[in-house]
Amino acid sequence: MAGPDSPEVLVAENVRKRYADEGPWAVDGVTLALHRGEVVSIVGPNGAGKSTLIQMMLGLLVPDSGSVRIFGNEMATGRRKVAHRINYASTDLSLPYSLTVRENLMAYALIYNMRNIGSRIDRLLREMDLASFRDVRVGRLSTGQVARMGIAKALINDPELLFLDEPTATLDPEVSAQLRTTLQTMVRERGMTLLYTSHNMREVERFSDRIYLMNGGRLVASGSVSDLMSRFETEDLESLFLQMVGQKRGKDE
Ligand code: ADP
Repeated sequence: MAGPDSPEVLVAENVRKRYADEGPWAVDGVTLALHRGEVVSIVGPNGAGKSTLIQMMLGLLVPDSGSVRIFGNEMATGRRKVAHRINYASTDLSLPYSLTVRENLMAYALIYNMRNIGSRIDRLLREMDLASFRDVRVGRLSTGQVARMGIAKALINDPELLFLDEPTATLDPEVSAQLRTTLQTMVRERGMTLLYTSHNMREVERFSDRIYLMNGGRLVASGSVSDLMSRFETEDLESLFLQMVGQKRGKDE
């Protein structure tokens, strides 16, 4: 079962980051833990610090202070040790556009030294509804197809921990629902842990075991949907979001 009793997959402790000396903190003292088999979302307005936090979790940005450990490894220094166990997809995906869908996935599977590459890719293409595009050059795909391609790429190494930054932003409702079902199956059957961001509050409510609300570089609330609803006496996540963001903006003015 997922939850606080499952092993910790990721631990972030008091992580801070700013992009300029004396500048504002993009991430300002974030502490959190992810457990095996959880679906956790980070929600917050543009500029809240979500992407910066994820980049630090991935070991691509080094925190100014604090630490992120994944499977016990410090990401700022030991990223290579866990790189094969994690993966990531975001909307600003850049792929070799002259290669076909299948060739792209093949290249990534080779990087990860995966076995049974052919059948793995065929399965991912089916799961991401891309089977009929397997021989199409990526440069000719629609925005939504490229997004699905990005997620297929992120799943190529059967990650134990997957980060998805706005995975459904460019997908239509039907494809979004299909993607959620596929991801939920992976979480349930393989104990994958999923951390994702989304601006779609209905999706976050339905899909997440736990939610972190982020604003101004800080975590301002966290819990399951029902925890949050009862604690803040709101009817839905969108109202809570507007309440939290409104308070911060009000203070800044
Ligand atoms: P979010 O993902 O929640 O939209 P970001 O992590 O992208 O938030 O941004 C947090 C803050 O850091 C914002 O004030 C943003 O302008 C700033 N920021 C993000 N990336 C950079 C960068 N590469 N250089 C300078 N400032 C940045």
